[in-house]
Amino acid sequence: MHVHTCLSPCGELDMHPSAIVRAAVEAGLDGVVICDHNAADNVAATGRAARTAGCVAVAGMEITTEEEVHLVALLPDEAAAGVLHARVAAALPGRNAPAAFGEQVIASEDGEVLGFNASLLSGATSWTVGRAADEIHRAGGLVVAAHMDRERFGLVGQLGFVPADLALDAIEVSAATAYDAGRRRYADPLGLPAITGSDAHGPGEIGRALTYLHLDRAEAAEVHRAIRAEGGRAVLGGGRPMEDLALHILDIARNGAEAGATRIEVRVEEDAAADTLCITVADNGRGMDAETAGRATDPFFTTRRTRVVGLGLPLLRQAAETAGGGLTVTSHAGAGTRVEAVFGLSHVDRAPLGDVETTVLVLLAAHPDVELDWTHRRGAHEYSLATADLRAALDGASLASPAGLALLRSAVRHGEQSLSATADSESRTENPL
Ligand SMILES: [Zn+2]
Ligand SMILES: [Zn+2]
Repeated sequence: MHVHTCLSPCGELDMHPSAIVRAAVEAGLDGVVICDHNAADNVAATGRAARTAGCVAVAGMEITTEEEVHLVALLPDEAAAGVLHARVAAALPGRNAPAAFGEQVIASEDGEVLGFNASLLSGATSWTVGRAADEIHRAGGLVVAAHMDRERFGLVGQLGFVPADLALDAIEVSAATAYDAGRRRYADPLGLPAITGSDAHGPGEIGRALTYLHLDRAEAAEVHRAIRAEGGRAVLGGGRPMEDLALHILDIARNGAEAGATRIEVRVEEDAAADTLCITVADNGRGMDAETAGRATDPFFTTRRTRVVGLGLPLLRQAAETAGGGLTVTSHAGAGTRVEAVFGLSHVDRAPLGDVETTVLVLLAAHPDVELDWTHRRGAHEYSLATADLRAALDGASLASPAGLALLRSAVRHGEQSLSATADSESRTENPL
């Protein structure tokens, strides 16, 4: 949801349109939002490169306000980007000094240099945050408070508060913060959706944080509808695929559903006494024969033709072993697969669990007919949810419908809150002072 190109003075020169699109496709993304600092010269070329590759580059811009706050504009199309670009250019004083601030390259979709933007794109516009938000809305865009968790150039970091009359449409959590922590801290109190993105300045960073949107198809208008929660579109969640265990769980469970599983059982068990975190994902899908199962954790073996989001079993094994644990895969052709990963709970190299709400919502939005039995246990306390029970409460509506997703979301939130409330009261008991 936040990718710079070589137009940004801080962007690497190899961030040209076709390189961005290639990196996005390799990372398993359906789309990227192009947002360079205070300009949109490379939006149209990236859009063309994306269309050729079968993904989408949504037009955007990252505007620096007078208070040095970054606001991301999510724009409906390239024409709107052109309009906003001209408005921003008129409000942006100064000319670039490439030797000091970097080149600002305007590139073709094939990476040819077409020219240079001469404005000081690293500077601040003369717009206040309120004015910038108005200008973005006037251009038909949505206003996102960029990297809200960051001190520098973040809205709260710069102003110390969120102005009550500022018309925001979403909050962005940067890749430096766990998505669920950022959402709870910044987005939930404002009643806004939380998105996350890589803020990539080099191709290798694309996809390091990503947002899951429930859309009809990958296009800008659908992204807007998801952020506004219109017509059944929704922001489902987000995270960091290289780090968050919740996204590993999602990856394994989705593979099961795509391999024909109709039942998936997930258990996440945190045991402080034994110092283990144990994740079990079991399904009744096609399964694998012994040879394939043996090779499934081999990083050089894959049955996939393209990499999808998530790292697959080899990297889950690596994550488990790095944290003093291991991975077991049990599978029989025609009889399902069971993956069990154990981690040292307090191990310094254990990856964070991440946002399990994202896991449940994305899995069931994509596979609403799968029977999911989900349990999260922390010490002596646990909560479970079973899609069979939730469906009974939905009176025939799909779990992927707005009512279904809302029910899932509240069930997971309620369960997770019960675990953290328990953990808080336990730590108070152990630590009366
Ligand atoms: Zn920024
Ligand atoms: Zn940025």
